[in-house]
Amino acid sequence: MSKRIAIIGGGISGLSAAYELEKKRRAGVPVEYVLYEACPRLGGVLVTDRVDGCLVEAGPDSFITEKPWAADLCRELGLGDQLIGSNDSSRKTYIVTRGKLVVMPDGLMFMVPTKILPTVFSPLFSWRTKMRMAAEWFHPPHKAAADETVAQLVERHYGAEMVDLLADPLLSGVYGGEAAQLSVRAVLPRFADMEMKHGSLGRAMLSARRKMAAAKRGPAPPLFTSLKDGMQQMVDALVARISQNAIRTATQVQSVIAQVGGWTVAAGYQSDHFDGLIIAAPASATSHLLEMADENLARELGEIRYSSSITVTLGYDESVRRTLPPGFGFLVPRSEGRRMLAATFVHNKFPHRAPENRALVRCFLGGARDEEILQCSGEEIVRTARAELKQIIQLQSEPLFVRVYKWPGAMAQYGVGHLERLQRIETLCRKLPGLALAGNAFTGIGVPDCVRSGREAVGKLLSEIGIPEGSA
Ligand SMILES: Cc1cc2nc3c(=O)[nH]c(=O)nc-3n(C[C@H](O)[C@H](O)[C@H](O)COP(=O)(O)OP(=O)(O)OC[C@H]3O[C@@H](n4cnc5c(N)ncnc54)[C@H](O)[C@@H]3O)c2cc1C
Repeated sequence: MSKRIAIIGGGISGLSAAYELEKKRRAGVPVEYVLYEACPRLGGVLVTDRVDGCLVEAGPDSFITEKPWAADLCRELGLGDQLIGSNDSSRKTYIVTRGKLVVMPDGLMFMVPTKILPTVFSPLFSWRTKMRMAAEWFHPPHKAAADETVAQLVERHYGAEMVDLLADPLLSGVYGGEAAQLSVRAVLPRFADMEMKHGSLGRAMLSARRKMAAAKRGPAPPLFTSLKDGMQQMVDALVARISQNAIRTATQVQSVIAQVGGWTVAAGYQSDHFDGLIIAAPASATSHLLEMADENLARELGEIRYSSSITVTLGYDESVRRTLPPGFGFLVPRSEGRRMLAATFVHNKFPHRAPENRALVRCFLGGARDEEILQCSGEEIVRTARAELKQIIQLQSEPLFVRVYKWPGAMAQYGVGHLERLQRIETLCRKLPGLALAGNAFTGIGVPDCVRSGREAVGKLLSEIGIPEGSA
């Protein structure tokens, strides 16, 4: 008899789990599955629209190349020839400083300076911070007694200006969160490790860079990878591979009940019995679903905070394209007092995004410190974005089109103590056999980590319900 598995959540995490199960099923493993998704469409925050010949990403626009799991999945799905890299030859990022764009100096590796001259001559940092950077070179090895925030670690090495100018804007780009809230051990474990072993982050980064350069053959891979037709292409390819009979869209799961030898899943007016359960929903929804099964587990999950994000894409004509600055876009430090967190010049960042006679500017708003903006109407949000674009890059032209996408509670925030929380969650999960959790709440928020989490959840679950790893 086949084992039956329910997957709750049809974002990239749940779809990856469903694809993995489908592969096993086709290979003869006795397993069936049902994928429940509350919305009418699958893909979660991965949505690509086509507007006026341009490709508009509503959510993620790419994945970091260094983490291989999303690109590997694309290759497996037959999309290898559709993978595209970011236009790194024109990579240039600006930081808004006193209302003006200042280019990030060459040699900065995720806020750690590794080249002396570009940093010394950069107008981005004050002399005080430059002195701190020089002194940082002699920072003694240090192991923090407990987890701490990213801001605490960065400030210890480079001072508060570095937190405001770089740590905060970079983290708000990835997590929609603040350096003063996010856990260094969960978000930047490499930094904690480098500090412990080398003391100076600058020296550690430089030595890692030299090792990489020595080992490297051929040109460096692009920093970001995407798909010619956008992130939706990945969703479509996954959906095409999954058994259509297994898909239940517009079906929100209301409750799950743990029973001896399995789980009952109730959605709409129906309930169904399964041998195993993968929950790939945001932690708040997972917490709610598991309240009856284990209140401690539900509480731990419920304490994982989320922030919201809004993307606003504005399409312009050729004349604007000619006048926009070169490079990928800009980040806005908190001290600038704007609502905009960052903006991407999409037509520069990737090929195949806009025809030559169009410019695409994608702005990010919201994040942990501006949840209120979600209450604003689409028009108000566009007005804010346009007013700030005018102030920052003097962009006053009327856009040809505008698209606004709101993503409430979409970005998990790994607060201080996140890793310890994950351990407690794992221990509590062990008491609920036949349950696996996936999604962006745990060990990585980006698309590659979500893909990995969905596929790993399948491996864990199958061995728990008596189908050993590697069967078929
Ligand atoms: C604006 C934005 C930009 C981003 N940019 C990038 C980027 O460039 N690169 C990158 O790598 N990552 C990026 N991310 C992060 C990444 O896209 C997400 O972390 C990831 O896609 C989350 O996937 P998921 O499947 O875990 O969750 P989701 O996509 O949130 O999917 C969860 C699904 O579960 C469903 N669900 C919830 N409760 C239930 C229920 N009770 N019953 C049935 N279904 C339910 C929801 O409807 C949803 O579809 C970005 C995120 C956002 C919001």
